Amino acid sequence: MVPPLIERFRPQLPVSAETPVVTLGEGSTPLLRAPRLSERYGRELWLKWEGGNPTGSYKDRGMTVAVSKAVEEGAQAVICASTGNTAASAAAYAARAGIPALVLVPVGAVSGAKVAQTRMLGATVLEVRGDFDEALSAALELARRGTHVLVNSLNPYRREGQKTAVYEIVEELGSAPDTFVIPYGGGGNTSAYAQGIRELGLGAGIVSAEASDRRHTLASAIRIGEPVHASAVREAGAHVVAVSDDAIVDAWRELGALEGVFCEPSSAAGLAAVAAGSVPGERVVLTLTGHGLKDVATAERLAPPPVQCDASPDAIAEAAG
Ligand SMILES: *Cc1c(COP(=O)(O)O)cnc(C)c1O
Repeated sequence: MVPPLIERFRPQLPVSAETPVVTLGEGSTPLLRAPRLSERYGRELWLKWEGGNPTGSYKDRGMTVAVSKAVEEGAQAVICASTGNTAASAAAYAARAGIPALVLVPVGAVSGAKVAQTRMLGATVLEVRGDFDEALSAALELARRGTHVLVNSLNPYRREGQKTAVYEIVEELGSAPDTFVIPYGGGGNTSAYAQGIRELGLGAGIVSAEASDRRHTLASAIRIGEPVHASAVREAGAHVVAVSDDAIVDAWRELGALEGVFCEPSSAAGLAAVAAGSVPGERVVLTLTGHGLKDVATAERLAPPPVQCDASPDAIAEAAG
């Protein structure tokens, strides 16, 4: 069995023997070679497949630590604002811990599949009439009132859990890559990777790929107008690259068709930065943050449409070309 993330990285995490380990078997995700993309872009590309986490995104790495610490500290309930994946992850780990989760999502701006997942996991889901930034301000205020523990990436335990992706990558490669490439929404993950790089004393760089139209990008997981960790991203020395939705969609299709990995659109922002020639380094690890099934509606809209044909072998052979 894969060890829970907290057990695998216990010495690197702010946990003690008293911390209850709330786990769904997160972390220890595949690091995949990308031979066809490597050839196409002329360098050694690796994919850190975070869609392999229990709720389908990297958010589980931080959530196992945040919810375990919240329970240790006596929390009665957790709260978050979310573009979808934090919601599903918070709901899952809260259910696992036996405490309620209150989730605020901007109305109409989150993938329906993520909201359905969160509802199935027993959270109270409120669709807030406002954007993500407004939902986050409201969640912060409720957390200040003391009724709920905030499990957004402002919760420092989230970063502690998320940094473990860097540990896993370096352990498996046997040394650091030249560059880590990750999508940039609020910037919590960039700051977590920077912490991992610092703790391990690596010389590696970070490229953070953001949507050029932050407020309206089709990549809803990074549809964040005002990144709350912008100053941490600057201090981390991350190289921020803006990519268009067209470039994201092209990269998204390439990941699926050339490497067999179906991620969500935001996860493809890093490859879009590579395609734009904006990523330095010979050996590059792209973190694919979430699973494609998280946003089926966008896939249905943009994937090549199926062709209809009669059920006879001749008709099928002809239609298949
Ligand atoms: C949360 C999320 C991001 C953005 O991460 P930040 O830490 O907000 O920069 C990117 N992709 C996916 C799939 C996410 O769930």
